[in-house]
Amino acid sequence: MRRAIIAGNWKMNKTGPEAVQLVKELLNRVSDVRDVDIIVCPPFTALESVAWVLGEGSVKIGAQDMHWAEQGAYTGEVSAKMLLTIGCRYVILGHSERRAYFGESNSDVNKKLKAALATSLIPIVCVGEKLEEREGGQTEVVVQDHVLGAFEGFSASELKRVILAYEPVWAIGTGKTATSEQANEVHAFIRDLLKSKLGRSLAQDIRIQYGGSVKPENAASLLSQPEIDGALVGGASLDVESFARIIKAVS
Ligand code: PEP
Repeated sequence: MRRAIIAGNWKMNKTGPEAVQLVKELLNRVSDVRDVDIIVCPPFTALESVAWVLGEGSVKIGAQDMHWAEQGAYTGEVSAKMLLTIGCRYVILGHSERRAYFGESNSDVNKKLKAALATSLIPIVCVGEKLEEREGGQTEVVVQDHVLGAFEGFSASELKRVILAYEPVWAIGTGKTATSEQANEVHAFIRDLLKSKLGRSLAQDIRIQYGGSVKPENAASLLSQPEIDGALVGGASLDVESFARIIKAVS
């Protein structure tokens, strides 16, 4: 049985004080939720102050990216150890916005994954096709390339704590959601792929979130699909009421 996991990706939104306010309101609304892993991913500048508010409570904190090196001359970057030291438990890797605007490749994601797994961080690895790729019948090819590219060189046991997020790029921030069936189909494809490449046990255990315009209105339907284990939520996670409703739709 895979435990549900809902993560909010705040992207480049919220100053430190705004982030603290948002997370305090969230805590008030989800204090009774016990059966869902809840994660918030504020921008780097708000991580430490949000981590203080969350303490050792049930809502955990993640970063939106990290560098693969342990330290050194990488202006503007942060390392896995820096994130861990301020209380991060999770890190998003390979988000489509990183791939599109910052040229991040599968090989970069693979190096970041290696660096994250060398620590106790839990990586959330994002994969997903663009609109033209879906329309060209390339969804499975692209998703396979993203998954195998990120996972190259790892054994099944090393990947145990990784979380995957299937995020069709055409559904991110557009208001267009994949139907629950479309999303479930790709999740099932990913699980089969993992089974054939890394074995049944990892395929059964690994959690796969769906991301792309998840809202309170569509969360229950998406999350009731057998292969969908949670959601990575962008826009709707900035609205405390909406994010809490999404969490409660799974709980
Ligand atoms: C995201 O950026 O990961 C995302 C899913 O965004 P949105 O929910 O706004 O589509």
